Amino acid sequence: MQYDYLIVGAGLYGSVVAYRLHKEGKKVLVVDKREHVGGNLRCENMHGINVHMYGAHIFHTNNENVWNFVNSIVPFNRYTNCPIANYKGKLYNLPFNMNTFYQMWGVTTPDEARRKIEEQKYRGEISNLEQQALSLVGREIYETLIRDYTEKQWGRPCSELPSFIIRRLPLRFTFDNNYFEALYQGIPIGGYNKLIEGLLEGVEIRTNCDYFSNRAELDAIADKIVYTGPIDQFYDYQFGALQYRTVSFEHQTLDTPNYQGNAVVNYTHKSVPYTRIIEHKHFEMFGDSVNEIPYTVISKEYSCEWKLGMEPYYPINDETNKSVYEKYKALSEKESRVIFGGRLAQYAYFDMDRVVEEALKVEL
Ligand code: FAD
Ligand code: UDP
Repeated sequence: MQYDYLIVGAGLYGSVVAYRLHKEGKKVLVVDKREHVGGNLRCENMHGINVHMYGAHIFHTNNENVWNFVNSIVPFNRYTNCPIANYKGKLYNLPFNMNTFYQMWGVTTPDEARRKIEEQKYRGEISNLEQQALSLVGREIYETLIRDYTEKQWGRPCSELPSFIIRRLPLRFTFDNNYFEALYQGIPIGGYNKLIEGLLEGVEIRTNCDYFSNRAELDAIADKIVYTGPIDQFYDYQFGALQYRTVSFEHQTLDTPNYQGNAVVNYTHKSVPYTRIIEHKHFEMFGDSVNEIPYTVISKEYSCEWKLGMEPYYPINDETNKSVYEKYKALSEKESRVIFGGRLAQYAYFDMDRVVEEALKVEL
């Protein structure tokens, strides 16, 4: 065998595993079907701005080991995500907090805000996202900030989506616009490519190499395989294709130093076809330094259903998909030389910190 390990996928999971193995002195080959490494973290530098080519990525974690690990590869900046929601031209702070309640109802104290929510909250059994949202924040916030955005993002009624999706967002009765509860948060200084390049330093890489187009050759050159692509494709979709949402991006350079004054603005009414606009420079440039580059780059994100041949992004963890995934997982557990990891191979809605955590602890 030429290699101890073949790693399929140079995304975050594959790159962390490659880093570990390389440190242990193992001979590793990483392949990726894309023309670049980094998976969905990939950035492209345009006019001196790191543009997140596959959607905004903000690293956040409560896990000190994970934070120390990524910072040992590249230091992170102090970016704190405070998205704004635009509903028919009116702006609201996210996540749901005292600023949002003030903008929605004019209430100025936590008691008043709680009373408003109590008046309109749903009190029945919770079996889907709609019921979960109504029980957390009541009807007005649900209809203004959640319902249309969620249906645009997922292409399904809120009553058919799992409740855990909305529990990703904090609800707080303080004036705190930090989108995440995490202890640690930031963006790698110099962009995400620095993180991936640091992880893959010294590792042999083949880009533009699709595992399935070269399966026999690749299977024959390594003792073990770490597979980070879609698990259903690995098994030739024998139990049917798992469903995903995908996102298409419209990137634009604008002749202004500051287009929307914030990295993330969500459009929460269904009349706007995109879900959000990202203005990338705000991830890494703060205060007056925003004006040092006279241009800005924005990306509009359009969410749509995944079809064969598209990039799968968000696993749809409803009951139907979960039961199909369980069948593939059972097959994967019988493999002696293949390890399945990451968002696609584990069919899980993992954030980056969870991906790093899994990749650091997996037994190789
Ligand atoms: P991927 O990055 O998908 O990597 C898998 C790699 O495998 C890809 O490079 C792919 O090309 C390659 N591959 C697949 N099939 C093959 C094949 N047959 N042959 C060769 N190569 C193959 N997380 C956060 O923590 N914060 C955020 O703000 C955040 N924002 C996000 C926004 C969007 C729009 C999306 C989609 C995700 C976001 N995430 C965020 C999640 C984050 O992207 C993932 O946690 C992380 O990228 C997963 O890493 P991965 O290595 O598992 O998967
Ligand atoms: N969400 C919403 N309105 C918003 C932002 C988010 O209703 O303005 C909902 C939506 O259902 C989304 C979920 O909250 O899927 C989780 O949001 P998050 O930002 O964590 O999603 P991500 O894009 O990171 O997967």
